[in-house]
Amino acid sequence: MAVTDTETPIHRVLIVGAGFSGLGTALRLQQEGIDDIVILERASEIGGTWRDNTYPGAACDIPSNLYSFSFAQNPAWSRSYAGSNEIMEYIHWLADAYGLRRYIRFNQRVQGLSYDSEEGIWTATTEQGETVRARQAVMAQGPLSNPSYPNIPGLNDFQGRVVHSADWDHDYDFNGKRVAVIGTGASGVQIVPELAKQASKLRVFQRTPCWIMPRLDFRKPEWQKTLFNKVPSAQAAIRKGLFLAHESMATGIIWDTPVNNALERLARAHIRHQVKDRWLRRQVTPEFKLGCKRVLMSSDYYPALQQDNCELITWPIVAINENGIRTAEGIEHQFDCLVFATGFSVPKTGTPFPVYGENGRELGSEWEKGAQAYKSINVAGYPNLFMIFGPNSGPGHNSALVYIEAQIEYIVKSVTTLRSLGVKAMDVREDVQKRHNQHLQKRLARTTWNSGCNSWYLTEDGFNATMYPGFATQYARQMKQVRLEDYRLVSSTGQ
Ligand SMILES: Cc1cc2nc3c(=O)[nH]c(=O)nc-3n(C[C@H](O)[C@H](O)[C@H](O)COP(=O)(O)OP(=O)(O)OC[C@H]3O[C@@H](n4cnc5c(N)ncnc54)[C@H](O)[C@@H]3O)c2cc1C
Repeated sequence: MAVTDTETPIHRVLIVGAGFSGLGTALRLQQEGIDDIVILERASEIGGTWRDNTYPGAACDIPSNLYSFSFAQNPAWSRSYAGSNEIMEYIHWLADAYGLRRYIRFNQRVQGLSYDSEEGIWTATTEQGETVRARQAVMAQGPLSNPSYPNIPGLNDFQGRVVHSADWDHDYDFNGKRVAVIGTGASGVQIVPELAKQASKLRVFQRTPCWIMPRLDFRKPEWQKTLFNKVPSAQAAIRKGLFLAHESMATGIIWDTPVNNALERLARAHIRHQVKDRWLRRQVTPEFKLGCKRVLMSSDYYPALQQDNCELITWPIVAINENGIRTAEGIEHQFDCLVFATGFSVPKTGTPFPVYGENGRELGSEWEKGAQAYKSINVAGYPNLFMIFGPNSGPGHNSALVYIEAQIEYIVKSVTTLRSLGVKAMDVREDVQKRHNQHLQKRLARTTWNSGCNSWYLTEDGFNATMYPGFATQYARQMKQVRLEDYRLVSSTGQ
């Protein structure tokens, strides 16, 4: 419900979350002369995903040169695919070099956002009792920030150590231990090769195998760093090349084309090349179209699975007890530690906290069957509210930071436009939003994501609320212009 408050100061922009999205938004707003900003961050440190995912082997699967902001390049990446430590160093550098920490209020978990139509003001309240008011609000709380555990009977009965990939236990010594890794998605394939070096017995529990491409990770030569330092345009050119190379992958990952068949052949050859045993080959070969689930990158996962101390288990888990895991064929596997590489609760329906818009309408209930927005960033009835990584902004083939950057630029343009027009609020028109989504869903129907597999991209009803069905270039192009005719503008007099 709208909160009327006359004592709390009114800021220009309120941002939820201090990951790449929140920090990048603050940075770009600041560059445009807007620095009355408050960032509310639930943790005690910046970094989001990369602060939380510190498991052994954690790294990006998009080349570092592209997995960084174009407006704040790092010439000194040490590897082609940076590890989480180095990405965190980059995020710290962003915050320090641009003085972003002064905007952040740490240890403040937002528990609700509400809009006062009379005043045109958003109010955020936190679990810790803080209230922040601002003219514009940016939800940058991240799509992959809440770890998810599978619903397995007996999960709480296990007497050994339980670790989640997004909340790693660095005090636990895995050396010589009997360890289970549950999940073979993006984090699972990064963790397994590292734990295989330490555990005495490693069992990897797989529900569905994913398509895996070779990962060409290498240490960057010193001369390249020197070159990028002295000639930033050389780095920009490499970045452009990497961007275009990933764009071309869209034709094979998003749509069922001859390129898709070629990529699938490459992934099959990767299995044949790295896996000797025919039965294991069958076990790790997916039965769905490449692209339908996230395509993974690894050159050391299959070799790790074949180490003497390691075994892949594909029988479904039926229960966990105090000693370990029981699988469907009746075997009880005993472990010292269970590692959950089971990903995140990805918001496809509802909202992460209550969001009240005009006349008390509540976004969570409007999104009960699936989230929908306009260009992934605004929702009708929620004026001046912007989302980063909102509905249908997910990339399957290119760097998330390219999409985030496009959204940040849209926010910066909107905020500066509101300021220069002297307008109180902008609210996307319902009919525009509806048309936008009809078009989007038609395009999604033709993608590999909607080709029949079960994935975290879809709701239980098969509604795709997460992915953008096109090239990153198309996404960025639609975000270049804020079309005022798509919005209802509310002047300060309320007209
Ligand atoms: C292990 C892993 C590897 C990845 N690798 C890649 C990759 O290689 N390439 C790629 O393109 N993408 C990758 N991603 C996707 C990644 O999520 C994005 O690239 C990017 O980091 C998202 O940044 P963000 O700021 O939007 O969200 P986050 O990094 O999740 O940050 C959100 C912030 O909001 C805070 N927050 C959440 N809720 C609240 C609340 N209620 N109140 C206050 N604060 C709150 C969180 O604490 C967090 O600090 C990866 C993700 C993971 C988990």
